[in-house]
Amino acid sequence: PPDSARIREINKDSPALETVCDTPVHQLVQQVVAYRAVNDLSGDSDETAFFAADLSAVYQAVQMWRNSPIGDRVEIFYAVKCNPSPPVLHLLSLLGTSFDCASTAEIAQVLSLPVAPSPDRIIFANPCKPPSFIRAAAEQGVAMMTFDNADELYKIKRAHPDARLVLRILTDDSKSLCRLGLKFGAPLTTCPALLTLARQLGLNVIGVSFHVGSGCKDPMQFADAVWRAKQVFEMGQQAGYDFKFLDVGGGFERETFQEMSQVLRDSLDVYFPEDSGVRVVAEPGRLLVSSAFTLATNIIARRRALASSEAGQQVEQEESEGADVMYYINDGVYGSFNCIMFDHQIVHPYPLTISHEPTVAVPSFPPPPNVQLAVDLPVQLGYNDTEKASVWGPTCDSIDCVRQMVCLPKGLEVGDWLAWGEMGAYTLCAASTFNGFNRSSVVWTTGGTSPDSVAVRAILDSFAGPDR
Ligand code: PLP
Repeated sequence: PPDSARIREINKDSPALETVCDTPVHQLVQQVVAYRAVNDLSGDSDETAFFAADLSAVYQAVQMWRNSPIGDRVEIFYAVKCNPSPPVLHLLSLLGTSFDCASTAEIAQVLSLPVAPSPDRIIFANPCKPPSFIRAAAEQGVAMMTFDNADELYKIKRAHPDARLVLRILTDDSKSLCRLGLKFGAPLTTCPALLTLARQLGLNVIGVSFHVGSGCKDPMQFADAVWRAKQVFEMGQQAGYDFKFLDVGGGFERETFQEMSQVLRDSLDVYFPEDSGVRVVAEPGRLLVSSAFTLATNIIARRRALASSEAGQQVEQEESEGADVMYYINDGVYGSFNCIMFDHQIVHPYPLTISHEPTVAVPSFPPPPNVQLAVDLPVQLGYNDTEKASVWGPTCDSIDCVRQMVCLPKGLEVGDWLAWGEMGAYTLCAASTFNGFNRSSVVWTTGGTSPDSVAVRAILDSFAGPDR
């Protein structure tokens, strides 16, 4: 099989950087599938699910940010929690981004990167931290951290009195997929008292942060949040502070990014113009990594309603309502598809093989901005002969349903492969091994010969650190 030795080499959980190949991502997926099928004939079956990750898509997303209306104004602090894969963090550090960390372990991971950022390029953006994490941040030299309550101020006073504090405020996140305001963010009415307390404790509050919610659907939420931040800057002045730092959080999505960045830029120009001297940062997660990861899963089982004559008896199928066929694949909601439960995602399959023959129709990758993956992707790809299917994960739990109803081409069999795009955000990092199923591993590529891919390859190659 093509590149088989190389694919075997890169198909490990923690690939060294030199194992990042440069095959276009869809070709890479097909190569791995073909390689495994060849092995299957020799009896050495390997149907395990895997991710193919294209670092050029991460690069593209950073470029998109930098060329957008906020590109020259808002610094990227990548939200590590979204996808802490070492090659992603390594590339981002080479591209000069900073980092949003939520825990001691994330801080340690970022600080041990081959090209580690200085600790002042990390914000500890978790408003409710265990005291030991605050002490560890002090030891690691990380001073910037968020808070949204009085107890946090007392903890910080004891564990890290020189911290540079950022007040996380509550904003309207009602139009977002994940409403973080249910858990975090000080209502504006509580901010004056918090700031007065911080002042009494002699703490250094440098500014304000917010998060409009992950998967934000309404760009105007950013306009409203910036306006609220401005109110809190004024409260800061009343309490004796001179804030020079604004963190606009995450919540950006590729489909709406152009509009969102324009709305954000306009609001910043009104409330925090450049001559105000306010440094503006953001904590994008999903936007930078979602498109970069494609998951390939194998159909490990299939159930189809038998005609009663075939079954020799009256068969009552208990299938999900209306589906003609039920497919069982080898990753599910306890694994990479946890994004369905935790991140409210709808995932879209397309076939990599039909009746064990490779397919040629693949979605354009990554989809252009403003193009959403169609709900019935196979139909969009031109498969006319489809049937209604439900798709299930491999565990014994009936909650493990990946799609209750989706159109898939006829002819799919046990052993065929389904691919799922846009799988880079909040997927593999939160996957469990429930029921004894391994997490899906990742094969890495810089993505081919496009200018972005060539640029990423050059950036990785130009790095001559100890790990290369
Ligand atoms: N910043 C904070 C504090 C978060 O909690 C999150 C996500 O939960 C992010 C940034 C990243 O958000 P997103 O992936 O929507 O950009």
